[in-house]
Amino acid sequence: MAKNILEGEDILIEEFKKESNYVLVTMEEPYSIIQECLNPKHVIFNYDMSEENLMKLASNNIEGDVIYGFGGGTACDTAKYLATKWNRPLIITPSVISVDAWLCKQIAIRTNGRVRYIDGIKPDKFILDYSIIRKGPGLLNKAGVSDVLSITTALGDWNISRRVFGDRFDISYYNAAYNIAKTLLSREKDISELSTEGLRSIVMGQVEEVILCEEWGNSRPEEGGEHFLAYCLEEITKKHYIHGLLIALNIIVVLKLQRDEAVFDYESIYQFYKNIGLDISPQKQGITEEEYRKTLLATPRYVKEENLFNGIFSLKSIYDSKGEYSVNEIVDWVFSL
Ligand SMILES: [Zn+2]
Repeated sequence: MAKNILEGEDILIEEFKKESNYVLVTMEEPYSIIQECLNPKHVIFNYDMSEENLMKLASNNIEGDVIYGFGGGTACDTAKYLATKWNRPLIITPSVISVDAWLCKQIAIRTNGRVRYIDGIKPDKFILDYSIIRKGPGLLNKAGVSDVLSITTALGDWNISRRVFGDRFDISYYNAAYNIAKTLLSREKDISELSTEGLRSIVMGQVEEVILCEEWGNSRPEEGGEHFLAYCLEEITKKHYIHGLLIALNIIVVLKLQRDEAVFDYESIYQFYKNIGLDISPQKQGITEEEYRKTLLATPRYVKEENLFNGIFSLKSIYDSKGEYSVNEIVDWVFSL
């Protein structure tokens, strides 16, 4: 998968100059940055990820040997979809690194407000131009740490699932995931400055984590209660959130709930967010106290119903009736962050 990565500063325009017959799938903001230097056969802007709309796009007879996806998740996923349907080479160049989806071959499609994933073809190449990524919203790029730091909670959940439920476990994958998270946590200063090294450390964390999960066979080393809380909140409220910010918030909540099973300390992860300038407060994400309370209570059932990985939310007693680990006090704490 992601072994074919070209990265650096000011490299994208040079790469485009080498192509003469390509289709560019993009979004207005990133496109406007380099528009004058581009000469695509065709430009596609798409903001509608419904299957109906994607099928309509794919039914057009559009010329071009190569498909470029240049932008955020919607542009990259549209490019993946079209390259798959048209069976043409695909090059992915994200303009923002807020989630790891640009690396994955899955395509997120919306049907009746619900997200569903279908498999697309593997991109032939990835181009990471840090000078362009840096021009994107800093908060979004910093939120890219979350799909790497979700390892911190996933590992505690993995320990629980192994110990209580006898689920499949492998110490070498566990240690590899641990080291990916540790490495990212050591790059605090670079990330806070969004320097090339900072952006690169987020990208490499995402690359290593995605490769590790592919080799393991599923996202167990990287995904646990923090993602499940997010999916459950989205299911309850039907609202759309900035994935990396919501996951960042849920990571410290789940680390706290994991208590003795936590592999990382929630206070030091919270301090990391502060040091890199990532504001995770739920109010700014548009989450209400009542919504978060409902979600905490509903997630155990949601995990079971959706057949998600075992972990903290699979245990019988997660919350105390009062005190620090009661739902009320967890909500109070979350809303004081
Ligand atoms: Zn994620």
